Amino acid sequence: MSDQVFNNYIAGEWQPGNNGSIANISPADTRDVIGQYAQADSAQTEAAIQAAMAGQVEWAKSGLEQRYSVLMAIGDELIARKDELGNILAREEGKTLAEGAGEVYRSGQFFHYYAAEVLRQMGETAESVRPGIEIETRREPVGVVGIITPWNFPTATGAWKIAPALAFGNAVVWKPANQVPASAWALTEIISRQGLPAGTFNLVMGPGSQVGDVLINSRDVNALTFTGSLETGRKVASATAGNLVKCQLEMGSKNALIVLDDADLDNAVECAVGGAFGGTGQKCTASSRLIVTEGIHDRFVEAMQARMAKLVVGHPLKEGVHIGAVADARQLEQNVEYFEQAKREGGNLVCGGEVFTETFNGEEVEGYYMQPALFTNTTNDMTINREEAFAPIACVIKVKDYEEALATLNDTNFGLTGGICTQSLQHATHFKRNAKTGCVMVNLPTAGTDYHVPFGGRKDSSFGPREQGTYAKEFYTVVKTSYIRA
Ligand code: NAD
Repeated sequence: MSDQVFNNYIAGEWQPGNNGSIANISPADTRDVIGQYAQADSAQTEAAIQAAMAGQVEWAKSGLEQRYSVLMAIGDELIARKDELGNILAREEGKTLAEGAGEVYRSGQFFHYYAAEVLRQMGETAESVRPGIEIETRREPVGVVGIITPWNFPTATGAWKIAPALAFGNAVVWKPANQVPASAWALTEIISRQGLPAGTFNLVMGPGSQVGDVLINSRDVNALTFTGSLETGRKVASATAGNLVKCQLEMGSKNALIVLDDADLDNAVECAVGGAFGGTGQKCTASSRLIVTEGIHDRFVEAMQARMAKLVVGHPLKEGVHIGAVADARQLEQNVEYFEQAKREGGNLVCGGEVFTETFNGEEVEGYYMQPALFTNTTNDMTINREEAFAPIACVIKVKDYEEALATLNDTNFGLTGGICTQSLQHATHFKRNAKTGCVMVNLPTAGTDYHVPFGGRKDSSFGPREQGTYAKEFYTVVKTSYIRA
């Protein structure tokens, strides 16, 4: 049990929470308390915003060399400490150590990528329609950026927002999900040692209903970037729109992987297993719908069942485990509800779905564990195929042909990622152009993206400018057009 208290970081100082602190308990083993994390109140959140306003003015004056060096140093340290920080992440979120270390490594890459982008801040010149006048367009920092992140990728989501925010000369107020404060605190501690002007970077931990509410309703936050559920996203959009504050939302999805008759069966199974069950199914890019054409359906289901029998679910720090714990008790309860509902609505359970007690270091542990489940005989109108369950549950939808498969994939309110397994160039090409999703994968899992290209979706999955890659500058900067009479 760790009694150590980890404070908020406001105006360049570590500050205890006005609302005390909460215990950060591992979902893999509830005896494992990672630490006590300070809880900010509304006044502290407001103070962080005011500090950011002051810090931003100083940070915007910093030379590109300083910004480059700061981002490189953060990236270097994340990568060097990936195992140690990945261990904390695995303990607090429940994902496997390999997934945790991989996420921290990826987070380092985001900082390195945006370090390079610091040096690529180019403007444009234009001829004027009026003689004797020259025109320049350049980008300036948007100002104070509010960052609200979810629990499923606590380090990476923070990194892909913080890195471009700092790269383009902005100040940050970061509110991480309250289930996973340790990852956020660890990243903040690294940032706190980079010599940034006080107030340039602030961490305020606490509940969304209080800390988040102040951030989304503030007129002093110039841009608000949010990743989380659709329900909260709608609140963020309406609050920021009321104040005409720029906003960017990445939300849930209900992604599908199509498997056509001509697919390489082994690869299709690997794509489906990785896409559906990686991260314990708690990925916004997870392929929870498997749309399979008639000719390969039975062979695919049989191969899936055989492959799933080899998946080891267990304590995230245990050797040989492929799937870790569910993130918390509430999420497990919701998983079980969706699982039961799928059965009630006529889904045929092929395997999995058991909630079980895990043993770690020879002792039974209290944690949240569920075997990945596969259903067949499901239709696209069932609740399990319409709502984002965020669970290790995959549902097969049998279809006649490619045309029906594509129509089924697109028949959803969401649109983050979509995938197809096929050897047909014609179908792959048609799919790339006609899937109504922000990212399209051919012969690859729907989850798993690169760090240097845009990421985002359509419909209820995303709102506002794209994140990541060079596209991030649309959100983190404002364009200024200057007219000069020489
Ligand atoms: P959530 O919406 O419950 O919480 C997200 C964040 O919003 C948390 O920090 C939370 O404290 C905060 N929040 C909650 N209520 C708030 C309010 N009223 N005002 C301001 N902030 C508030 O989501 P979650 O359960 O943490 O995360 C899971 C969701 O995130 C899933 O839907 C998943 O698909 C989505 N997600 C999307 C992406 C993507 O890039 N599209 C990536 C990861 C996760």
